[in-house]
Amino acid sequence: MNQAQSIIYRRLLRVRGVVQGVGFRPWVYRTAIRHGLTGWVRNTSGSVEIDVEGLPDHLNAFATTLWQEAPELARVDSITSVDVDLIGYTEFNILESCAGDRATSVIPVDVATCPDCLKELSGRSDRRFGYPFINCTNCGPRFTIIQRIPYDRVNTTMASFEMCDRCREEYEKPSNRRFHAEPTACPDCGPRIWFEAAGDRLDIDPIIAATECLRDGKILAIKGLGGFHLACDATNDGAVVELRKRKGRIAKSFAVMVRDIAAAEQLCEMDETTRTLLQSFKRPIALAKKRQSNRISEFVAPGNRLLGLLLPYTPLHTLIMEQFGRPLVMTSGNLSEEPLVFTNRSARNKLAALADAFLMHNRDIQVPCDDSVVRSLPNSLVMVRRARGYVPESIEMPLDCEGILGTGAEQKSTFCLGTAHKAIPSQHIGDLDTVETFDYYRYAVDHLVSLLGCETKIIAHDLHPNYKSTHYALSRKNVELVGVQHHHAHIAACLAENGCTETCIGLALDGTGYGTNGTIWGGEILLASLTRFERIGHLKETVMPGGESAIRDPKRMAMAYLHASFGEEFENIAKRLGLTFEPLEARIIRHQIETGLNSPITSSAGRLFDAVSAAIGICRDRDFEGRPAIELEMAADEAESSSYPFSIRNEADMLLLNSIPAFKALVEEHLAGVSQATIAAKFHNSVVEMMVSTCQKARDLTGVNWVALSGGVFQNSLILTRLFDGLRSHGFDVLIHKLMPPNDACISLGQVAVAAAILRKSN
Ligand code: ZN
Ligand code: ZN
Ligand code: FE
Repeated sequence: MNQAQSIIYRRLLRVRGVVQGVGFRPWVYRTAIRHGLTGWVRNTSGSVEIDVEGLPDHLNAFATTLWQEAPELARVDSITSVDVDLIGYTEFNILESCAGDRATSVIPVDVATCPDCLKELSGRSDRRFGYPFINCTNCGPRFTIIQRIPYDRVNTTMASFEMCDRCREEYEKPSNRRFHAEPTACPDCGPRIWFEAAGDRLDIDPIIAATECLRDGKILAIKGLGGFHLACDATNDGAVVELRKRKGRIAKSFAVMVRDIAAAEQLCEMDETTRTLLQSFKRPIALAKKRQSNRISEFVAPGNRLLGLLLPYTPLHTLIMEQFGRPLVMTSGNLSEEPLVFTNRSARNKLAALADAFLMHNRDIQVPCDDSVVRSLPNSLVMVRRARGYVPESIEMPLDCEGILGTGAEQKSTFCLGTAHKAIPSQHIGDLDTVETFDYYRYAVDHLVSLLGCETKIIAHDLHPNYKSTHYALSRKNVELVGVQHHHAHIAACLAENGCTETCIGLALDGTGYGTNGTIWGGEILLASLTRFERIGHLKETVMPGGESAIRDPKRMAMAYLHASFGEEFENIAKRLGLTFEPLEARIIRHQIETGLNSPITSSAGRLFDAVSAAIGICRDRDFEGRPAIELEMAADEAESSSYPFSIRNEADMLLLNSIPAFKALVEEHLAGVSQATIAAKFHNSVVEMMVSTCQKARDLTGVNWVALSGGVFQNSLILTRLFDGLRSHGFDVLIHKLMPPNDACISLGQVAVAAAILRKSN
């Protein structure tokens, strides 16, 4: 060793990225010791600061390790370093974070059981063998148990469990993998599970009792991480049908938990992204294509080519799946339309009529959080529901959003909080039209606001006067209110999450949203930036016979489209299609269509899909939102490439997209005996072609080449992938959602972006 290499240097490093609440400091501690370095590490505002002394080679090797081997949950974006005067540290320490520092308020997401913990869980000699609450610095509950910040054990629902000496020793020892694992526990000191039936807590092995109950075809309520699930044997027709009956859920698909990726492979065809997602620490439900023959009951996901799969994400799930072996239906434990049940008391109260028995535990859930749902498509990933594992991760914003609350929409609602250049969308809350869900919404807003310690000064809301989220915004005192049009919010959300502040052609295709002219919009072509929008085109309007009842009954929309397509003949055509109504209802519908009584007009794309699905007999009952469109997509023959005619007219600088020629043609083909698969595919192709042509016309008129896609229709794989490819092949720059669902869950984010842009006068 020459002299220069034996000289000790001191270096200050600053690491930025996802480096807090992810076990980064203990890992730095161990890494520094391994490289023979002295000094310290601490959290500071938005970064981790490291002060180290050692030989140059060792310092360099240390920096390389920071880049290359950071813990799984961490993400290193940048490391800056500067050499400074030597102090002469003798040991390495983890220092306290600066108190009151905003950075200490980073709220980590819930993380699935890590491989190290799984090994201990199944290790017979381990003291946590078979313990359903095993966790460590790298895994376990986070967001769902935090009551206050900073994220310390006393501020979580684990506060009531006093650590035993052995757990405390691990918790306090920096070299231990449970150093500062806030929810750490063991069978001696931590939470417990028990099996409960008919109000009695039974003195038997809870896991064995639970699996026996499932084997008997019974329905079991299982308390999990973010709430209760209702579970039953997914291979047992009787059990699945009974669960549907009790939940009052006729056709909406159930998710299925399988023990590992090999079991998932047996049920579905999966691409690499789906495999990775299923096994990621976020453990969402991933939608994948069912295999022709699998063991799952046909009642799990009827009328759907896809199946929602998920792997165990808590030690309790792992224990159940190991013991049970078979795929398990795991659906949210709630009454239809109500929020997820998450306390033992309300489970006993509300789920008693649904479940035959309960697998309970005594670790409280502070804030409920559903399973997230994702779908991998050939060139993109669609978030269908964003909740556990993703929330409360922030989204980088292209402008300052400090103190802005977006209250969201009404259905699939979320809210969103802005802090500096970040936005934090809430977990999926649900449809706000029940008292219970609205209570949950307000609770969740208060909870997240207090966790983040941010002061809400500006509230952005939808323009719909009857949305509960609008009522909530208007009820708040001493805040500045900003009303944001629904489809502008859709497009703004898409722009914001792509970091774009340009003006774009926005295609907002969804069910319904309140328009600025008082009609119901939903097939909108906007020229939009974050600050402003102009409606430059839309689907040609149709009546919604009976308003709300036309949303609930797709047959009514079919009647409206038949009238628009065939005029006086429409009732005869309806009969030939088998679209029937009670005589009185038929008369009312005709009257509503002819006079417009109680029948608002709409440019909604969602209603067009409903009409087509009902007309050709694919789905005539809508027992859940989006069902007619989903089944229409599922029916389509992907190999079919032809389409139906449509027209686009420019009327006083407004592009009018007329789909009536397509509707008329597809009804005629159906009556002529063409298959549903062909018609469904040709209809999808027509919508894609109509949208590509519209964008070309809009580009000719405006010179804008950016296109942003948003709205629930873009959960449709055929529409999204074909339109994306079609627009790209015509030279457009296309923006799609990657982080938020394209449906109304993204509205709150868009509201925050628009309010920030307007009030801060950026762009
Ligand atoms: Zn772990
Ligand atoms: Zn213990
Ligand atoms: Fe919408």
